[in-house]
Amino acid sequence: MTIPFNPDRFWDSLDQMARIGATPDGGVKRLALSPEDDHARKLLRDWAIAAGCTVTVDRLGSMYCTYPGVEDTAPVAIGSHLDSVPTGGKYDGPYGVLLGLEVVRALHEAGRRTKTPIVVVNWTNEEGSRFSPAMSASGGAMGVITEAAVLAAPDNFDPSFTYADALAATGWAGTADPAKARDFAAYFEAHIEQGPILERDGIPIGIVTHCIGVEQWDIIVTGTDGHVGYPMPGRRDALAAASELILALERIAIETGGMATATRLTVQPDARGNIPSLVRVAGNIRHPEVDGNARMEVAFRAVVAEVTKRRGVAVDIRRVGGYPRVPFAPALLDALRRAADGAQLKRRDMPGPIPQDALHVGIVVPSALMFIPCHGGVSHHPSESISREWCAAGLATMGPAVIEAAGGLA
Ligand SMILES: [Zn+2]
Repeated sequence: MTIPFNPDRFWDSLDQMARIGATPDGGVKRLALSPEDDHARKLLRDWAIAAGCTVTVDRLGSMYCTYPGVEDTAPVAIGSHLDSVPTGGKYDGPYGVLLGLEVVRALHEAGRRTKTPIVVVNWTNEEGSRFSPAMSASGGAMGVITEAAVLAAPDNFDPSFTYADALAATGWAGTADPAKARDFAAYFEAHIEQGPILERDGIPIGIVTHCIGVEQWDIIVTGTDGHVGYPMPGRRDALAAASELILALERIAIETGGMATATRLTVQPDARGNIPSLVRVAGNIRHPEVDGNARMEVAFRAVVAEVTKRRGVAVDIRRVGGYPRVPFAPALLDALRRAADGAQLKRRDMPGPIPQDALHVGIVVPSALMFIPCHGGVSHHPSESISREWCAAGLATMGPAVIEAAGGLA
């Protein structure tokens, strides 16, 4: 037994939310704890209160909209984020938060409760555009990052201002302990895929079995400076060596079914007349299989050994960041599969190549992540879009799964 969810109300709310921080090109700019984010948060708070929720805010600014259950036991949470990147779209984040809101709205309208409370969560600073790192509030809540480190993060656009300053300025510094979120009985997150697979294959529901592990490396190549008129034999050109390594990284990713990207290049001495002597390559490595990153690293190190020897350069690979591989809770994934089948929606299991708040939460709390398609896989772009059908499919899947996880209708 379930309750009638209202996909039109969900769609309209997404539309209304997207007007806050709307940009002329059809996108959204709603940086974490900006005036636009403040406006979006107030709208969510008003909607949640109207839907019978009490709203609390933790010390990192994350919002918890609690719809009471008949028992005051550990709640089932559902959420995502309302902040955006500077050139964001309408659905990355709000889709998951407002899906949760529709679940409690439908319960409230039907005058029903579940056994346990349901909490709709808006995690602060998921995107990490304004404050590094990304997903810092969910990370802080789960103990992946210290609360102090989250609060001390400088504004990437104005380093004189911190996360804590922005919380104070907007009035979203709450008093709840972020660590309380570790007591959730379960956590659900719905998100647009941010990739092309579901749309291409005509499948509206992606059941994300795990967030894939991500490695961030600095690859530092050291050669010897010299005049560009120096003969070719005997050079130790760090940039030429780095170029071979970048192409090897791409080839290894393609051959092993992973993803590898050289995202930044710093060259010294960075002068037209000089052979480059030092190159720093920022590399991002991810693979859907358990040992995939390790296999890619072994293959890459073999290339490094060969290039080092042949070109006479030194190469140092430093791990500067990343995320662990986080598997999601089988029972919750099964609940999503059953709900999709019940709604006669095609579904597929897939890995989650892009970290979401569910990655941090999933380290501590039994969690599930679900994708719906987005057109062309386009995200973090003003033209990010979804269809009404996909929007409704996600609700028809996650809505009943959340109710079931919350002990069903009481
Ligand atoms: Zn997102």
